[in-house]
Amino acid sequence: MSTPTASSKEPAAGKTDRPRPTPPARYRNYIGGQWVESLATKNAPNVSPADTRVTLGQVPLSTPAEVDAAVAAAASAFPAWRETPAPVRGNLLVRWASLLTQHTDELAAILAWEEGKTFGEARGEVLKATNIVEFMAGEGRRMGGHTIPSEMPRTFVYTVKAPLGPVAVITPWNFPIAIPCWKIAPALVAGNTIVFKPATLTPWTAMRAVELLHEAGLPPGVLNLIFGSGSAVGDQLVHHKAIRAVSFTGSNEVGTHVYTEGAKRLLKVQCELGGKNPLVVLEDADLELAADATAQGAFGSTGQRCTATSRAIVVNHVADRFVELLAARAKKVVVGDPLKDGVTMGPSVDDGQFQTVLKYLDVAKQEGARLVAGGCRLAEGDHANGHFVAPTIYDGVSPGMRIAKEEIFGPVLSVIRVKDFEEAVHVANDVEFGLSSSLYTNDVNRMYRFVDLIETGIVHVNSPTVGGEAQAPFGGMKGTGVGTREQGSVAVDFFTELKTVYADYTGTKRTTNIY
Ligand code: NAP
Ligand code: MG
Repeated sequence: MSTPTASSKEPAAGKTDRPRPTPPARYRNYIGGQWVESLATKNAPNVSPADTRVTLGQVPLSTPAEVDAAVAAAASAFPAWRETPAPVRGNLLVRWASLLTQHTDELAAILAWEEGKTFGEARGEVLKATNIVEFMAGEGRRMGGHTIPSEMPRTFVYTVKAPLGPVAVITPWNFPIAIPCWKIAPALVAGNTIVFKPATLTPWTAMRAVELLHEAGLPPGVLNLIFGSGSAVGDQLVHHKAIRAVSFTGSNEVGTHVYTEGAKRLLKVQCELGGKNPLVVLEDADLELAADATAQGAFGSTGQRCTATSRAIVVNHVADRFVELLAARAKKVVVGDPLKDGVTMGPSVDDGQFQTVLKYLDVAKQEGARLVAGGCRLAEGDHANGHFVAPTIYDGVSPGMRIAKEEIFGPVLSVIRVKDFEEAVHVANDVEFGLSSSLYTNDVNRMYRFVDLIETGIVHVNSPTVGGEAQAPFGGMKGTGVGTREQGSVAVDFFTELKTVYADYTGTKRTTNIY
């Protein structure tokens, strides 16, 4: 596979193409340290969303026997991996992070080509993934418990963090390297072994990340990669007796299914799900900054982010001016092939997601929202063969409309006008989701009040509704998730059980008052 290099000169918009690595003809599973051809007779094509005439290899829809083999490999690798000292497990991640750094541009090109975010955004995602792996490597040296005073003499009470066993990691297509890394890195450093099922839409990024982990010295069976459909391979993992936990990120529909099925066998399940993130603009906000953040949040990664800004909640006093600033920013977005320099927004990931976004444009029309920008697909010239939607803004959206409530996962922003801070907070909280939020103000009292009242796991003040930094916890409230936080030191909590140890060193029989 060739490694492209980034060009040093900045060419004119849309004129040049980034170097494109060569995709495999068919993706192979990685089981017990070996890359193995799947026995599956059915495949799914990995279609480029910018040009659907281009297929980037075939994804095997692996058979139940192959899933069993992957789980068996993870189970047999577990005893030795759990005995490997945590700092030594961390060293594997140090080497992986270093390889991810060396291959940043290659990974970014693959990611942009198969998923559709721009090369620059894809690079940002690879850097985020690398930061997470680097941070988690250090957790191997911090994998401590607590000492606790005992009521009894000569008694030592303490906790240790114990790994769970073989775990399943099931991930979506929209962050095809960052999300796998933020699950795999804490699971590995904590001493678990893994069966990793990536999204079928983004197999190549997953395969390259695992190839680099293999190159970093991963012992056979400690992580196994299996391609296949969620409803077959994913479902089998959730039901597999040898799997001790499932870490899932994806849609609410599938997440609810995974959580419900897991509950039937008291499986430890972590679900990171959808978002409908608000950005609140008060009358004293810096409107230019707020408009920059809103446009970035709404159109960045084509709106295909769980942390995308999908609602701008603006007080009446500044709403006209704010919408004007937003419209100017939407006009500047350059939609096109994510591997072309100068392009600032790519396509929707596949036809299904594309049709969903187009359906919501119809819904917005029926609901009577006022179109400010976009509102249509782009199908002429360079856009003819891809899933391109114009960056879209609706004004006059009322909080009860579907476009104000439901996750669209496309470059579509709803502006909701409110009378004051209290109404803004009420509207911001009036959705089923609770991932990220943002407040633009210079009023310190209302800033802290917002932090008190807002129902989201991540709160930004004068900062866009992004995910955040590798060392800080990430996760949502309400319908966005259960059993999370990911990233930061707390990420290892899901992948460990606390053991509480009582050691009596009196050496004599004694009476005890503990039960
Ligand atoms: P999805 O359709 O729910 O798929 C997620 C993963 O689950 C894929 O690997 C999928 O496999 C698999 N899957 C599908 N059916 C399954 C089943 N019955 N049992 C087990 N696994 C199954 O989600 P998506 O469309 O890929 O991702 C977009 C969604 O993810 C959005 O809702 C977004 O908000 C959410 N998301 C949340 C966060 C967060 O941190 N809160 C971050 C990113 C994305 P296939 O690919 O083979 O279908
Ligand atoms: Mg694809």
